Amino acid sequence: MTEHFDPATLAVRAGTLRTEFQEHAEAMFLTSSFVFGSAAEAAARFSGAEPGNIYARFTNPSVTMFEQRLAALEGAERCVAFASGMAAILATVMGLMKAGEHVVASRSIFGSTVQLFSNILARFGVETTFVSPTDPEEWRRAARPETRLFFLESPSNPLTEVSDIRAIAAIAHEAGAWLAVDNCFCTPILQRPLELGADLVIHSATKYLDGQGRVLGGAVLGGKDLLEGVFTFLRTAGPTLSAFNAWVLLKGMETLPIRMRAHSENALELATWLERQPGVDRVLYPGLPSHPQHGLAMSQQSTGGGIVAFEVAGGKEAAWRVIDATRLMSITANLGDTRTTITHPATTTHGRLSPDQRAAAGIGDGLIRIAVGLESVADLKADLARGLPG
Ligand SMILES: *Cc1c(COP(=O)(O)O)cnc(C)c1O
Repeated sequence: MTEHFDPATLAVRAGTLRTEFQEHAEAMFLTSSFVFGSAAEAAARFSGAEPGNIYARFTNPSVTMFEQRLAALEGAERCVAFASGMAAILATVMGLMKAGEHVVASRSIFGSTVQLFSNILARFGVETTFVSPTDPEEWRRAARPETRLFFLESPSNPLTEVSDIRAIAAIAHEAGAWLAVDNCFCTPILQRPLELGADLVIHSATKYLDGQGRVLGGAVLGGKDLLEGVFTFLRTAGPTLSAFNAWVLLKGMETLPIRMRAHSENALELATWLERQPGVDRVLYPGLPSHPQHGLAMSQQSTGGGIVAFEVAGGKEAAWRVIDATRLMSITANLGDTRTTITHPATTTHGRLSPDQRAAAGIGDGLIRIAVGLESVADLKADLARGLPG
């Protein structure tokens, strides 16, 4: 299917492969290997002279359907699926870089991504410089002759800082580097980084792509040539998405456009309401006109998305009071599914930072992050109001 279809159509139809049985819904191919009609056919498959499945570490039709559907939505030439979002990020570096090369990354990225870059990849000779997500000039100054990769998330977690993807892509290209955008929070329904100049898009499919909190998965998308190295790492090292998870993700993606619209509508209504509550010092949501980068956000993403952060007066005690008074929301750091989740970053996801590091990162003790789900907003407001003062 080509790009003249609307995302709503691509989400339901793109990538579907049918067997000789002409099944309507996508089949789940639970097989570890594939048989050949003859020795000559086996040889042709292995040499690459003839396309086709060989072994499920490399390719599997259920996984291929997931890859093609996501590629259609992101407008990418190629997608390679992985067992998790972190496996996708690891494969990007292992597939495209070598020892002695350098990464410039946003300081505001997923915690495990920070650990991967600063503790694991550093041991193999790939060094990372962390810079401000909101100041493109810092990216320019951090670039070196050996820089190969720029890496960011926008909006960031939990502060919803917005990176100027167009500007940072231009700086990456001047420096001879690729820009990779972790598009987990927006999904291709709200933001298509490749159209804004990024070279690679990365997903944790575990979040909104599944949308029901059931399975882990990941993906890397971009141009055919760039993705060849990423695929070579996958087929050799094996952090492969299972056929079962791919099939679950395909079902989830059918409703992605409808869900992302509903998440955004609910989040905007909740954020607008929170701004008016006594005891709430500030609300961070890119869809609010009061967000410091509202204009930039709306120039690169279509709506604000589902993640809202807010700071209550009274520090940790006040924040915990709000969290512990909820009866509906799930107290968990996970995000992206139908159920609203609530978390206190200072004592969970960012709890291992020193108080100084947390202050520098802007993670106050009164900060609460909500991943707004698909429940009624009236019920969500009542759930929060119980623990707010007055
Ligand atoms: C969850 C997440 C990841 C990691 O994905 P897994 O599927 O848990 O490995 C990476 N980036 C972002 C922004 C995430 O939220």
